[in-house]
Amino acid sequence: MRLKPGPSDARAPLGVMAAALVLLAGLLLARLQHSTRQQVVAAEVESAPEMAPQPPAQPSWRSPLRRRCDRADPGLRSRLEQRAVSLRASGGPIGIDPSNHGERHRRDAFGREIPTTPSLIVLHETVYGIGSAINTFMTPHPRDDDQVSYHALIGLDGAVVQVVDPSRRAFGAGNSAFNGIWVITNRAFHGSVNNFALHVSLETPLDGENNEPAHSGYTASQYDALAVLLAQWMQRYGIPPERITTHAHVDLGGERSDPRSFDWQALQRRLAALGMLCR
Ligand SMILES: [Zn+2]
Repeated sequence: MRLKPGPSDARAPLGVMAAALVLLAGLLLARLQHSTRQQVVAAEVESAPEMAPQPPAQPSWRSPLRRRCDRADPGLRSRLEQRAVSLRASGGPIGIDPSNHGERHRRDAFGREIPTTPSLIVLHETVYGIGSAINTFMTPHPRDDDQVSYHALIGLDGAVVQVVDPSRRAFGAGNSAFNGIWVITNRAFHGSVNNFALHVSLETPLDGENNEPAHSGYTASQYDALAVLLAQWMQRYGIPPERITTHAHVDLGGERSDPRSFDWQALQRRLAALGMLCR
C-alpha cells in the first residue's frame, strides 16, 4: 500500500536536494580552483626563461706566446713593416657566396644580448690548396652543416686573400667554445665561437694533403703575413695575444687538429718584433 507522504517525509527529499546542491557547489569550486591552478602553472612555464645549454668542460687555453717588450731584431721589424704597408694597400674581401657568411648576431637564440666585436682569433690550415678552399667558399651551401668560410687565407707564397670582412661572421668552426664560452645562434645546433671570432687559415704544404698528424710546416712568408695580419686585428679590436688560439683547441667535436705543425716560436719572434707582445 502506498502511503501518502507525511510532513516529515516531505522534508527528507528537500534535505537530500540541499545536500546534493552543497556537494555540487563544492565540486564546482574544486574544479574552478584546479583549473585556475593549471592556468597559473601554464603562465609560469611560459614566462620562465629557457636555460641556454652550456658547453661541455674543456681545458683552459694556455698560450705559447710569451710577453716580450724589447722589440729586438730591427731587420725583421722593418721587413714586417713593409709587408704591413702592402697588406693595407691590398683590396677588400673577394666576393664569396652569401650562404657561407653572415651578420654577427646581436642576440643569441635565447634572446640574450651578445657582443658583436671580435675578441678571439682562431688559426686554421686549409689541408688542400688555397684554390680549393676559395672554390668551396664560392659554392652555395643551402644546408647549414655545409656552410664554411674564414676571414682570411694565407698562401704558401705569403699572399693574403681577404675572404670575409672582419665585421661579419665567418663560419670557421662548428661545435666549439673558448674557455667555457660559446654562442648558440640556432637552437637546432651546438654553440660555437663564430660570433666573437676571427678566423685565418694557412695553406697546407703539399705533403700535408692527408690525415697524418704532422707535415713539413708553413713558409717564412706565411709567418710574416700572419704576424702582420694578426697585429692589424689585435690593434683594431684590442685583442690580447693570449686570445690567439687554434681550431684544434676550440673544437668540441674531437675531429679537428689544425693547424698541424704550427711553429709558435716563429710567430712569437715576429709579434715581438712588431711590439705586439708587450703588455
Ligand atoms: Zn680549421
